[in-house]
Amino acid sequence: MATAIRTEATNGAGHSAAPSLPQYELYINGAWRAPVAGQYRPMVDPSTGEILGNVAQADIEDTRIAIQAARAAFDDGYWPNMGHGERSRLLHAIVDAIEARQDEIADAEMRNSGCTWRKANLMDMPVGLIHFRHFAKLADFEPLESIPQITFPALTYNIVRREPIGVCGQIIPWNFPFLMAVWKIAPALATGNTVILKPATFTPYSALKMVEIINDTGLLPPGVLNLLTGPGQVVGPELCTNPMVDKIAFTGSTEVGREIMIQAASTIKKVTLELGGKSPNIILDDADLDLAIDGSLWATFMHNGQACESGTRLFVPASLHDEFVARLVDRASRLKLGLSSDGATDLGPLISAGQLRSVESYIQLGIDEGATPVLLGARPTDPELANGHYISPTIFTNVDNRMRIAQEEIFGPVLVVIKYDSVEDAIRMANDTIYGLAAGVWSRDVERAVSVAERIQAGTIWINDYHIISAEAPFGGFKQSGIGRELGTYGLKEYTEVKHIHVPLNNTRESKFYYDIVVPQSE
Ligand code: NAP
Ligand code: MG
Repeated sequence: MATAIRTEATNGAGHSAAPSLPQYELYINGAWRAPVAGQYRPMVDPSTGEILGNVAQADIEDTRIAIQAARAAFDDGYWPNMGHGERSRLLHAIVDAIEARQDEIADAEMRNSGCTWRKANLMDMPVGLIHFRHFAKLADFEPLESIPQITFPALTYNIVRREPIGVCGQIIPWNFPFLMAVWKIAPALATGNTVILKPATFTPYSALKMVEIINDTGLLPPGVLNLLTGPGQVVGPELCTNPMVDKIAFTGSTEVGREIMIQAASTIKKVTLELGGKSPNIILDDADLDLAIDGSLWATFMHNGQACESGTRLFVPASLHDEFVARLVDRASRLKLGLSSDGATDLGPLISAGQLRSVESYIQLGIDEGATPVLLGARPTDPELANGHYISPTIFTNVDNRMRIAQEEIFGPVLVVIKYDSVEDAIRMANDTIYGLAAGVWSRDVERAVSVAERIQAGTIWINDYHIISAEAPFGGFKQSGIGRELGTYGLKEYTEVKHIHVPLNNTRESKFYYDIVVPQSE
């Protein structure tokens, strides 16, 4: 059974379930329920090929039932109108419950997403908990906002308030399944919305665990949080076109993001998108080289490059190029490829056989385009890794920024190094991309680095660092990397509608239809 799935790169329904394994149902209206059509799909560990369980595959009918539940939970008014302090306390209690069982989630994340033990336990869990807790705190926000006193065309008293949007369909990818689930449900719940979360078909495990834990607390009213596992191509279009859904929040490929915008347009849903990237990482000639080399390695190869913000285009000054590349190659070739569960592993598997093939075809493309593979990635021969989707790092030099390997998101351990002569050239090439998610700048002179950062078209720019995402700071993309921002008050506001209530202070009948505007007396 395991081999049948290993060779399948497709995602979507239609697979037969593996026998006698844990079975995971859909979570709708506060209860676990079997999918209407009775379809299940094996959930796999990409590190070992082990089948972890069978997961319900929602179809359009299940999606409609979940949407109705979320709609009813919102329209009922109890949840959206709950006092902010009370909702904040409730969310804090939910984070406490998740924290108490964080090992279960970390294990699920490691086994199902193929990330390393270190990433799951030392990064995803602590960061996810801090981010969730920050939204629990922000839930107690002040919904009334002040605006300057309005005097024209009438003297008025004005109330501006933030209200929840309604039913939110949330679609997330396979690279950071737990963090993405937190980034979606926490701000939506904090602002009083109801949620239908759709994890990636490859990686539902940590979201299933988290929802199980939340359900066990008994704190959320039925229908406020729903979890639909199933194929994006089936569940997605229903979420995006159903008139009962008010907002779609999506993280994933730019290609699917574009499709989602088109579909959501039919009912003018609010849409936020966090999409792909091909982020520039710029080494300035006064950089601390030891730090910059380690940082560049981390920027690119963290989670095998399966991060939207990965610094996959490395700009190195011509004067430093050869030394920098030699040291980088030396370090990259010593990264340990291994089982996710091995605490010493630096690079685990890619998510799927399809992703592995896609990365390999990009490596071939780079060679065909004339770039030089100074480090050429290969599948390992270690029999222990034979059932996973492993490939070692690749580094290309002699890369022109217009090559496809420098323009397209590869989502694997492939770094392109681009030599530059002047900082002007580096900035121009860095911005020569359809994307604008993130960037890095490395220099001993922080002021100089900031002045470069100010000219980079991207949503997040790290100076002498990379991949650090804070609960308080906005994260999201310029250009085709997305619409809207996640995290902090920026992310919170994406889940609110703004309402203005106008109360005249010197009302007159004449001002109605006779255009006799009441102009306040000036002092
Ligand atoms: P994807 O197709 O964009 O998938 C992301 C999510 O969207 C998944 O939950 C997916 O469900 C769902 N989906 C797929 N088709 C949909 C549709 N027509 N309508 C609504 N939702 C839909 O990404 P992928 O296929 O997993 O990966 C492809 C490439 O996307 C990667 O190689 C990488 O370049 C990029 N990617 C980017 C990010 C990012 O964070 N920016 C994350 C992951 C991947 P299913 O899982 O059921 O298909
Ligand atoms: Mg896809």
